[in-house]
This record gives sequence, structure tokens and C-alpha cells, in this order.
Amino acid sequence: MKVSSHTIVVEDYPQCGEHLVYSTRTQALVKIDQRVKDAMEALETEGSRSFESEEDLNRLHKMGILVKDEQEEREKLSHFLNQLKYGYDNSTFVATILTTYACNLKCVYCFEESSRENTRLDAEAQKLSVEWLKRRIERLGYKGLLLNFYGGEPLLNTQAIEYIAGEMKPWCESKKIRFGMSLQTNGYLLTPEIVDRLKILGLLRVRISMDGLQETHDKNRPQRGGGGSFETIVKNIVACVDKISISISVAYIKDRIDPIKDLIEFFDGLGILSKLGNFHCSPINPTLGPKGNPEAIQGAACMCNHEDTVMASATRKIKALMESYDLKYEMGMSTNTCSLVRENSGVTIDQHGQIYRCNSLLGHPEFAIGDVRKDTFNETQKMFRDLDVWQQCPTDCTYLPMCSGGCRLMSFVGGHKNFKIPSCKKPYLNEMAPEFIKRDYDRLVANKSKRSTEPAPA
Ligand code: SF4
Ligand code: SF4
Repeated sequence: MKVSSHTIVVEDYPQCGEHLVYSTRTQALVKIDQRVKDAMEALETEGSRSFESEEDLNRLHKMGILVKDEQEEREKLSHFLNQLKYGYDNSTFVATILTTYACNLKCVYCFEESSRENTRLDAEAQKLSVEWLKRRIERLGYKGLLLNFYGGEPLLNTQAIEYIAGEMKPWCESKKIRFGMSLQTNGYLLTPEIVDRLKILGLLRVRISMDGLQETHDKNRPQRGGGGSFETIVKNIVACVDKISISISVAYIKDRIDPIKDLIEFFDGLGILSKLGNFHCSPINPTLGPKGNPEAIQGAACMCNHEDTVMASATRKIKALMESYDLKYEMGMSTNTCSLVRENSGVTIDQHGQIYRCNSLLGHPEFAIGDVRKDTFNETQKMFRDLDVWQQCPTDCTYLPMCSGGCRLMSFVGGHKNFKIPSCKKPYLNEMAPEFIKRDYDRLVANKSKRSTEPAPA
């Protein structure tokens, strides 16, 4: 028996002499005492004899923290990566739908801007999208459907939302499939009346993108015809926040998180911070070039050029900020393999009915993986699926199961102009993994104690 290469040990947490062990393959997380940690360390020299308790040894083996030998390690990893590639979770099918590629704002760093066109999902494409969704759900046996309406600005074509949700909701209900939808909007056209109409059709939540306080926001997210958008968006959020869950997306550059802090203080001052959902904070990334010329990468001040220490600094600052306001912040260890390399991950349907696996590739039809007019995916899908870039990584890289070579887009835009090269963030993961694992552990403990204090059902 040996300690798996994909095991991480976080020492002396939650207390001195207690340690957390985590498997990046199985995502098992367990607290061990000093005796078990010493036994794990002595495995190499003493073999399984180092464990006083066979039960401990077997339990850690079952969790993937220990493996019998190199051969078992290789077999388990290969089985796991195969599952990632071809397997799927049939609990919920997630589909993003672009109702239009047009937008009423002209954001300075929008990744769609270089290929912007004033086209919308027309009646025929709406009908074909509905039929394709029904066939896909039936074929793969999904038990739930979550539609995310996106754009351009999705509310420039509310008719498409109402038609598609109006068709899919009753169909799902008749088949006992859970149905819900969300909306990703700039918020400029969001009104209580629209929220009421869409809630009847299954709207669960809305995500609005903002860029900081008025001056910054209006500079970065002006109206297409000129003029700021901040005031109207804030007015709409205030008018709708009691009707629907609204979360805010904020972009930041390097580790300059002031726009996020400013917005949180602003909403706190308005008295609606506690009513808002999560704040989703993401770094501004580089984007592909204009249509037909994706290699003309845009957005030089991009995350992939940032030092890993800058990324780590941003993560820590955001975490501290969220904690100081008692806001939720999603961060932790997870298996987040790039959707491009998964046969059955969610899809994005564009305004022409073309199917993509990654929103960042929208506007570049050469990277579409299919079309709602056909049931099979195309050769591009196979090309992405079979990239297997992880084969270029050392198999004993601790993070291989959760990273498997990193983001394909980042490889392409990160100077290589090639999807086939790993985009490695190992120094960042090395620095942050212990903090992520501690946070996951604290969350598990908190959830467990919450459950134990909840009244038992009558
Ligand atoms: S290419 Fe990157 S952004 Fe796109 S799906 Fe993969 S990991 Fe996500
Ligand atoms: S890209 Fe880097 S961190 Fe990811 S699996 Fe490969 S070597 Fe490991």
C-alpha cells in the first residue's frame, strides 16, 4: 500500500495534532490524528504493518487516499479520466440559450464584441432548439432541465424566452422532469413586470453584471447609443429584488478588487445587500479575435499573463471581503474539467441554433460542436473531446484528476494559439489548495452541525 500521488495532507488543522487529508480523484476529505498520519508516512518503509488498525488502512484505501501500488494508481486514474470524458450526471441538463447576439450596452472588454452581429434566435431556430432539447433529454434520461438565457442581451428578445420556456416547462412537468430557468442580463431592461411574467414560466434567479460604482461602471459598460447605464440598472435591481433572487457578477483586473468592495458597500448603504444572492467575481480574461480570425487574441491585460501569486492574492482578498460582510463565496477544491473535453457536458445554443461547449468560443462557428438541426455532434466535438492534454502532464501531478491539463481556451489565448498544450496553474494550486481544503472542511462541519440542530420532521 502507498499514499496516492493525488492525496494532499493539510497539517495541524483544525487543531495541532489533527490533520486533513484530501483526494483530488475521489474528492474524499477526512480528518486524521497524529497516529494515522505517522502510519501513512511509514507506509513506504514499513508497508501496511505501519497501521495498527486494519480498519483505518482499508477505510483510507476505499477513499482513494491510499492505493495498493503504482498499477492500481494508473488503473484508477485512467478509469476516472474515462468517466470524466464519457460519463455524465443525469440529474440536471444545463443548456444556455442565446436569444440574440445584439446588445444594448457596449462593454469595453466584452468577449463577444469583436464578432458582434445584430441577429436573433428566430421562430424557426426557437422551434428547432426546443425539439433538440427534448430529444437530448429523452435520449440521456435527464431528471431535470435548467435553461440559462444569455446573449448579447437576452431581454432584447423576451419573446424567445417565453416561447422556449412556455414549451419546455409543461413538457418537463408531463414527464416528471424538474424545470427551472435563469437569466444572465446586464439588468438595463429588467422590470418587475418582466420578472412576474417569467416567474410564471419557471424563472428562479437572475444574474446581473456590474463593474463597480457609477463612474467605473458607466465608463466600462456604456449604452450602445451613448450615456451611462448604472442608474437604470440600480433602479431595476431595487424594484425587483423582493420578487426574485438577484446575484451580481463583477469583473476585476489582477488583484484590484476595489470595484467589488465599492459595490458591496453601495448595496449595503441602500439596505438591500442581505436580499441579494451571491457576488460572482471573475478576473477579466483575454478573448479570441474577430470572427474568422480567432488567433488575433484580444485583451492583453489578461489573467493568464498574471503571476500565480497575483491570482492567489486576489482570491484571498475576495474571501476576506466576503467574510467581513457575511456573504457566501464559492471557492474550494472541485473537479472542474474543461467542458470542451467532455462528451456529455452542458451546451450553449447560439442565435443561429449552433451548439457550443464554451461560451468564450461563441461567435466563432469553426469551434461549434453541432447544430440543433442534427442529433449527432460534428468532428470538432471529437477533436476537442480527444485532446487528452493531460497525457503531457506528469501522472503523479497531485492535481491531475481535478485539472487534467487546465482550461483549453487559456492554452489557445495564452500565447500558444493551440488547444493541445496544457495550461498549468500548479503554483497557484500549490499555494491555494490547503486554504481551499480547510474551507471545504469548515463548510462540511458547519452543515453537519446545522443539520443536527434542525428540528426532526414530525
Ligand atoms: S475552455 Fe476554459 S472557459 Fe471554456 S469550458 Fe473549458 S475551462 Fe471553461
Ligand atoms: S496542467 Fe499542471 S496542474 Fe494541471 S494536471 Fe497538468 S501539470 Fe498538473
